[in-house]
Amino acid sequence: MEVQHMHTLEPYDLVGVGFGPSNLSLAIALAEAGEARLGNTLFLEQQPGFCWHGSMLLEGSTMQISFLKDLVSLRNPRSRFSFINYLHEQGRLSDFINLQTFFPTRLEFNDYLRWSADKFADNCRYNSRVTSVSPILEQGRVTELELSVETPERPTTRIRARNLVMGVGGRPNIPQAFAPHRDNDRVIHSSDYLRRMDEIIRQNRPLRRVAVIGAGQSAAEIFHDLGNRFGHLELSLISRCRSMKPSDDSPFVNEIFNPEYTDYLYDRQDSQRQSLMEEYRNTNYSVVDMPLLETLFQWRYQQQITGETRLSFMFDTRVEQVEARDNGLQLALSSGESTAMQTLDVDLVILATGYRRDGATRMLEAIQPYLATQDGTPQVTRQYELQTDDRFEPRIYLQGACERSHGLSDTLLSVLPTRAQEIAQSLAAGSQSPAAHKPINARISA
Ligand SMILES: Cc1cc2nc3c(=O)[nH]c(=O)nc-3n(C[C@H](O)[C@H](O)[C@H](O)COP(=O)(O)OP(=O)(O)OC[C@H]3O[C@@H](n4cnc5c(N)ncnc54)[C@H](O)[C@@H]3O)c2cc1C
Repeated sequence: MEVQHMHTLEPYDLVGVGFGPSNLSLAIALAEAGEARLGNTLFLEQQPGFCWHGSMLLEGSTMQISFLKDLVSLRNPRSRFSFINYLHEQGRLSDFINLQTFFPTRLEFNDYLRWSADKFADNCRYNSRVTSVSPILEQGRVTELELSVETPERPTTRIRARNLVMGVGGRPNIPQAFAPHRDNDRVIHSSDYLRRMDEIIRQNRPLRRVAVIGAGQSAAEIFHDLGNRFGHLELSLISRCRSMKPSDDSPFVNEIFNPEYTDYLYDRQDSQRQSLMEEYRNTNYSVVDMPLLETLFQWRYQQQITGETRLSFMFDTRVEQVEARDNGLQLALSSGESTAMQTLDVDLVILATGYRRDGATRMLEAIQPYLATQDGTPQVTRQYELQTDDRFEPRIYLQGACERSHGLSDTLLSVLPTRAQEIAQSLAAGSQSPAAHKPINARISA
């Protein structure tokens, strides 16, 4: 295997893995703290260019968070990286105001993020997938980290870093029944939805029956998109949930996404934190925006009038087994308490089954022996820094992998600017401060 050693003389002060909104927000925070901070920083992104959930940029889909929660405004409302300044520079500020909305389309927000990301071209390398992180030892101490990076030109490039910030987002969650079929071209995860559908359309592959698995926002959006664009399809939405529920974004509840709530939640006991998150799960998980939910209900009602049966909603239903056939997939389904099975033959399955947040920990496997753990679980400070033992000098920060310790806002856009500031300040303050070592009960997502 050809290995290219880059920057063998000088390591980067900071390497960011992933260049999504989290690390982009950090890049801005570093830049606004002074050019020197950003100077020796490199972000590595596996995609060929900046793109925010590109395969879910469905026409008409809108943000589920106010545009005021952009990359910067909560930290620095005067920043030139604000969504409002983006609109101003695009010459659309007046027209956007006339839309009278807090919720731009995802297409527009992606364009805003890309506009911001383009300003960091010198600090970001695209087409660069980090496969692992290893410790570099000097007399028994870990002084730096070495990242293995895959690019289209080279299978492995090595990059050295004094400090690391992981912002890799989620990876597709594939339900057990579908695990043996994950490479079957009839099984698509929502994170790949538009790209794979475009492929199917280009190849003229015949499609008649499609099942969408899940009952959250992505499942509803995909069901709606398929129903709208492909009038001939027989669509089944299959979910363990007993019904589709609306997401709660009411104002009192929404306070859990305020930056200061992170302090409150982080300081709670483990069990208390878990039960708080359970209580507020319906702000983000397995829930759908009310207007979309109402549209789907109308579709189903309309069928009762016309007698059509093209769309079916199969709630309280589990996919127990999947069998690949020559001309499709056969799903074995159980429903409610019943042990009886029914089968459903489909040409295509879309898994809108969410994400796992263990990408960072998997990449960091080689440094596990140096991590401070509690009950076998690695610990994270309030400033998102992984706690390590005395032999370990580099600092490693996690963005988007600390939901269990920092709350439901951790995987969202809600606290990006303040989190970026906390990480930037912690980096500037030097190695883990005494405060960071105070007894904590925080845990990272596994
Ligand atoms: C369809 C969809 C819509 C959403 N809408 C909203 C919303 O309206 N409001 C909200 O608050 N949240 C929303 N979210 C939640 C979402 O997690 C955040 O919006 C945001 O994307 C989090 O940013 P991030 O940078 O942490 O992760 P991501 O956006 O997932 O970015 C991670 C980046 O890391 C890269 N990467 C991963 N692994 C590697 C590797 N090994 N090497 C190099 N690069 C790597 C990825 O390619 C990606 O670009 C939505 C999520 C989805 C899926």
